[in-house]
Amino acid sequence: MTTLFISDLHLCAERPAITDLFLEFIHEHAAQADALYILGDWFEYWIGDEAVTDDEYRSIVTTIQKITDSGTPVFIIPGNRDFLIGNRFEEYTGCRLLPDPSVIDLYGKRVLVMHGDSLCTDDHEYQTFRQHVRSEDWKRDYLAKTVEERHNIVRELRERSNVAKARKKPEIMDVNGHAVNEIMRTHQVYDLIHGHTHRPGEHVFDLDGKRARRMVLGDWYENGSVLRCDADGWVLETLPLHAPA
Ligand code: MN
Repeated sequence: MTTLFISDLHLCAERPAITDLFLEFIHEHAAQADALYILGDWFEYWIGDEAVTDDEYRSIVTTIQKITDSGTPVFIIPGNRDFLIGNRFEEYTGCRLLPDPSVIDLYGKRVLVMHGDSLCTDDHEYQTFRQHVRSEDWKRDYLAKTVEERHNIVRELRERSNVAKARKKPEIMDVNGHAVNEIMRTHQVYDLIHGHTHRPGEHVFDLDGKRARRMVLGDWYENGSVLRCDADGWVLETLPLHAPA
């Protein structure tokens, strides 16, 4: 059997082909898996759990409900885009929220899973912003606003983020090696899986004299990306996006 990991789908109404690819992935791969982990930025943005009943998300929510009902566990770690996913989402979909980071048991191996944005410590501006919006005060104030106001704030934040990213050096937006070592030491693991950077790949390195591995999931912009794990090993695969009919 297999455990699957995905992240950075950035699902939204503007990119229906990616939603279709995700639904196909659920039916053809995830429904038969031991478990599915979604490590953040599943959605392009999340304005609060009222959205779980929106038409925009209906096909996604009903498909996920079906597989959790039939006994396939779906674990989610919120990303920087969808960190407002909360308990109502969990109850409605049957998904289970995990803290970022979390240690899981993957076929007898201790593995750390996380979104990955907290490892990008060279981007001081982003880390300041992250601290601000993740505060309980900010979240409470935001969720107290009307849905329309919340959409407007998200639009503004997305625009500001695009402007900021365009002028930052690419290496600033990657993970910091010391932050990676530190978090792996803290949790006593030699395997880490994360997303966020949109730089898919496997990094093998020495951590305190032992072989360590950091697997980075890819985004779902040009195609899908999935990490398939079983007791024998890990394979990072690409899911082709069908050409529009
Ligand atoms: Mn992200």
